[in-house]
Amino acid sequence: MLAICAGPCAVESREQIETVAAAVAHAGANVLRGGAFKPRTSPYAFQGLGIKGLELLRAAADRHGLAVVTEVLDPREVKAVAGYADMLQIGARNMQNFALLRAAGESGVPVLLKRGIAATVDEWLLAAEYVLVAGNAQVVLCERGIRSFDPATRNLIDVSVVPLLAELTHLPVIVDPSHGTGLARLVEPMALAGIAAGADGVMVEVHPDPPSAASDGQQSITPEQFATLMTRLGAVASAVGRRLPAATLAA
Ligand code: PEP
Ligand code: MN
Repeated sequence: MLAICAGPCAVESREQIETVAAAVAHAGANVLRGGAFKPRTSPYAFQGLGIKGLELLRAAADRHGLAVVTEVLDPREVKAVAGYADMLQIGARNMQNFALLRAAGESGVPVLLKRGIAATVDEWLLAAEYVLVAGNAQVVLCERGIRSFDPATRNLIDVSVVPLLAELTHLPVIVDPSHGTGLARLVEPMALAGIAAGADGVMVEVHPDPPSAASDGQQSITPEQFATLMTRLGAVASAVGRRLPAATLAA
């Protein structure tokens, strides 16, 4: 079964995360994403709701039968975040934060390891190794685009890395076409491409009102667009012998 992780870039309010959780669960996602501790380029940008955000995220996920994946930024916060999450996200900017990798490894909680913005495949796999040698075998790799010379898209999503990683590692791989392109209209085609290439899932940013999002609005799709994406993803999944999670009944 594919992992379909969907939700806002950042948890912003009870109403926002509840609306998204209900919509993505209804459309067939199995994991709710949402950042409570956000790695922002500017220290003046919205930094996330912190623990309050984790509470809102967990409650919304539980109401709709979803698992939770959320980012942890600091090794000292791994225990606290693990108290709310089913999977710890280590973001692109922290892919080689070795203290964080070790702490996440020691937590025993599954880890979603995003590819660094300029990371080679070898560097990425060695970062995963830090979690594995700390005693945590549950690591999923997430291709989220690498920085290129071309500002036409936010990042350059590397679809070829999906079959390449299948040769190099047993670890599951998902693709994130939201950060991978930075453009909402490119999310669907690149999600389809990722699954067609053999990915074990996708991570997609979904917001009830993308223009008002506190972060990553340009790359966020609406719940309606997500539902359409899921229908098309179902067709591609069956073409490559995979299946989507069963949609939960609306709560
Ligand atoms: C995110 O998932 O919102 C995020 C910050 O991702 P990345 O680390 O890939 O930029
Ligand atoms: Mn984001």
